[in-house]
Amino acid sequence: MVRSISVLGCTGSIGRQTLAVAEHTGIRVAALTANRQIDRLEEQTRKFKPAFVAVYDEAAARAFRTAVADLPVRVGSGLEGLMEAAALPEADCVVTAVSGSVGLKPTLAAIDEKKRIALANKETLVCAGEIVMQRARERGAEIVPVDSEHSAIFQSLMGRQPGELHKILLTGSGGPFRGMRREELEGITPQQAVKHPNWHMGAKISVDSSTLMNKGLEFIEAMHLFSVKPEQIQVVIHPQSVIHSMVELVDGTVIAQLGVPDMGLPIQLALTYPERKTSLFEHLDFYKLSALSFEAPDLVNFPCLALAMDCARQGGTAACVMSAANEEAVHLFLDGRLGYNRIYDLAAGAVEQVGVVQGADIDGILAADAAARAYVRENAK
Ligand code: MG
Repeated sequence: MVRSISVLGCTGSIGRQTLAVAEHTGIRVAALTANRQIDRLEEQTRKFKPAFVAVYDEAAARAFRTAVADLPVRVGSGLEGLMEAAALPEADCVVTAVSGSVGLKPTLAAIDEKKRIALANKETLVCAGEIVMQRARERGAEIVPVDSEHSAIFQSLMGRQPGELHKILLTGSGGPFRGMRREELEGITPQQAVKHPNWHMGAKISVDSSTLMNKGLEFIEAMHLFSVKPEQIQVVIHPQSVIHSMVELVDGTVIAQLGVPDMGLPIQLALTYPERKTSLFEHLDFYKLSALSFEAPDLVNFPCLALAMDCARQGGTAACVMSAANEEAVHLFLDGRLGYNRIYDLAAGAVEQVGVVQGADIDGILAADAAARAYVRENAK
């Protein structure tokens, strides 16, 4: 079990739940980072007393320094601030809860310091899965997934030998628009898209869940985390979100992990692993579960998932370009500047137009990321 954590992205949904888990389990908070929500960050800083805090946005960092002038906390800013929080000697685990590809370099910095990575930033593996996993193997840094599906797969694989896994059954609720046709989705508003039936999450990931892009990103994340080929992952829609994912072994046995849909559970396990602790969360009541149902994903009306699976097969920078374009398009959609169905069009267009590079290094990956974003800004008009 870890003793002290750095939380990158502490004001978001996962960050706040991580701090609640830290409080419950008695884990110390060594560092916090946020983008620009400094009111909440100040509250958290006063409560958890980290030695170091980084604010990504420079103007917000200046305001934050003034706000906490009475505290003995060091304050950093920008990407360097995030890197410093990730590599801080006082922390033995880094929770990467930032959204987007900004998490990539800090995650590598934490790996270099052999810290446990409680990985909640899926874009890091989507963009640079091969580099990140290889670096973690070389340095002997442990990566424990926080994403509920990957935590479920991780738990289902505990005690298994590598050759025993036949395939991963990656479950997903199907999102709030399951059963609708693409034409019907045309006028979906940001308010409708951020309302998820089972999970309470940040805005970006909620939109991704509604388009099934989130399942696509998780598909790629799973491929890297568990070293499997795309054909070894099957997406299964399971609207109740009780089974968080399953593994099928070579003899046909299926092992699943079940629990209430609360991100607190996978967060807590990522911090206490290999131990288990009592939790604050509700337990499942099987007398109240009426049914668990399963179906195939609708790849026609939710083409983002098909696009992601295709990018997984293409390899190279394909997934990075798709993910960066999607991130940019989702932000435009949330700002009311882009129609809902255009998110897919722009993500697919970027993969087509920006092109795919095989064997890129970190700079090559970040260049592909930037080119994808530029494509979206240019073509969103
Ligand atoms: Mg998930």
